[in-house]
Amino acid sequence: LVTLEGVSKSFGKNRVLNDINLTVEAGEVVCVIGPSGSGKSTLCRCVNRLETIDEGRITFDGRPLPAEGRELARMRAQVGMVFQSFNLFAHRTILDNITLGPRRVNGVRRAEAEEKARALLERVGIADKADRLPRQLSGGQQQRAAIARALAMEPKLMLFDEPTSALDPEMIQEVLDVMRSLAASGMTMIVVTHEMGFARSAADRVVFMADGRLLEVAPPKNFFAAPASERAADFLAKVL
Ligand code: ATP
Ligand code: MG
Repeated sequence: LVTLEGVSKSFGKNRVLNDINLTVEAGEVVCVIGPSGSGKSTLCRCVNRLETIDEGRITFDGRPLPAEGRELARMRAQVGMVFQSFNLFAHRTILDNITLGPRRVNGVRRAEAEEKARALLERVGIADKADRLPRQLSGGQQQRAAIARALAMEPKLMLFDEPTSALDPEMIQEVLDVMRSLAASGMTMIVVTHEMGFARSAADRVVFMADGRLLEVAPPKNFFAAPASERAADFLAKVL
């Protein structure tokens, strides 16, 4: 579904992505882990062209990423993104947050959008929060609403960039549970995370990044049992 071939990206003299090669198949869950500053967020942002790349090629669904305009908007509508900060519209209800995209971008009628939104809220376990404002929800509930909002666009790919890093410990699991069930439903997912338990149990493959390079790409069983590089072994010793 997504391929990166020889992708490099610099900010000034800082080469943040260095010759990245990666293919993510439809239905696959890929967890990206690695130390701070290794380029994980930048990698995610390049996939939906929130950042441009200097070298190489990225394709989505068999086609190069559109450079701009309507084609780019259409491509982005198929990619859901969930960040560390929930980015919900503060002055809109949860239901509005979820229905705005489908109504404005996909031209879905209000009644239909709301029916679907309520089903999604049910799925992420916050059906009773539809008419609340984001600030009236806990962090974990807001993040689940953000996931529901992304899903409302019926994406082919979901990008998660440290979705639980801003949450209190007791709220992390409820968000990971939603992500686990999404993974089990067959969604294609790229997940940047520090939650090694999630990577171990939900990922089809783990990608380890350091200094802008993909040092390892392996099934979690192999990676966690015996990382091939010293960098990864050091990293795991610190986080596990
Ligand atoms: P973290 O785990 O802390 O989120 P990360 O692996 O996501 O780190 P990135 O955010 O991708 O790392 O950043 C990689 C490098 O690129 C860092 O050195 C960072 O300072 C730099 N960088 C990221 N965004 C920009 C930007 N917009 N302008 C300049 N430098 C940037
Ligand atoms: Mg990051």
